[in-house]
Amino acid sequence: MFAGPVDFLKGVVAMEGLPPADRVEVCFAGRSNVGKSSLINALTGRKSLARASNTPGRTQEINYFTAGDSHYLVDLPGYGYAEAPVAVVAKWQRLLKSYLGGRQTLRRAFVLIDMRHGIKAVDEEILTLLDRSAVTFEVVLTKADKVKAADHDKIIAQVRAALQKHTAAYPEIVVTSSEKGDGIETLRAIIATMA
Ligand code: GDP
Repeated sequence: MFAGPVDFLKGVVAMEGLPPADRVEVCFAGRSNVGKSSLINALTGRKSLARASNTPGRTQEINYFTAGDSHYLVDLPGYGYAEAPVAVVAKWQRLLKSYLGGRQTLRRAFVLIDMRHGIKAVDEEILTLLDRSAVTFEVVLTKADKVKAADHDKIIAQVRAALQKHTAAYPEIVVTSSEKGDGIETLRAIIATMA
């Protein structure tokens, strides 16, 4: 667990709104419905923590959580909403680019991928942006409980192959199930040891 409580700090809509860069931070990205809120809740042991960032109006904000005294957990809006207006998407993409390109204390991005679906075109956009921003990203496969154990190795190999072309990809892939708790402690340890 993180040394100290985890709390929602604020939703950020512009670079000026970012909290002081005085902690190590990691961010979480993933298409909507990938299981991002569930994962953040499981990681922090707070059942409804990330619900705050999933409510309408919050979905285009960068949501900051404080984790103990040392870390920020940063929830990036889910992407791939078919119905989001073009202007909203454009504004969000500008903020995302500025954030990824300019946040000195950002150590790693965790990109959540539904283990049943693998990396899709909509995910490739964020992976390419992370490459360009030189933000190391680590793939977190979600909903592992929905995939037969016998298929895990094959899927991991496919994801690894798809990551070959990405210069910012971290070699490790974390397999998780927020439902069953698989991989949660591993992920927590990865974040906690980051300084
Ligand atoms: P978000 O839109 O990325 O924040 O996704 P949510 O965390 O709200 O999850 C979307 C749906 O997937 C919900 O119905 C969750 O209950 C379900 N879900 C999330 N994580 C898991 C998991 O590890 N296993 C299973 N079986 N379902 C999950």
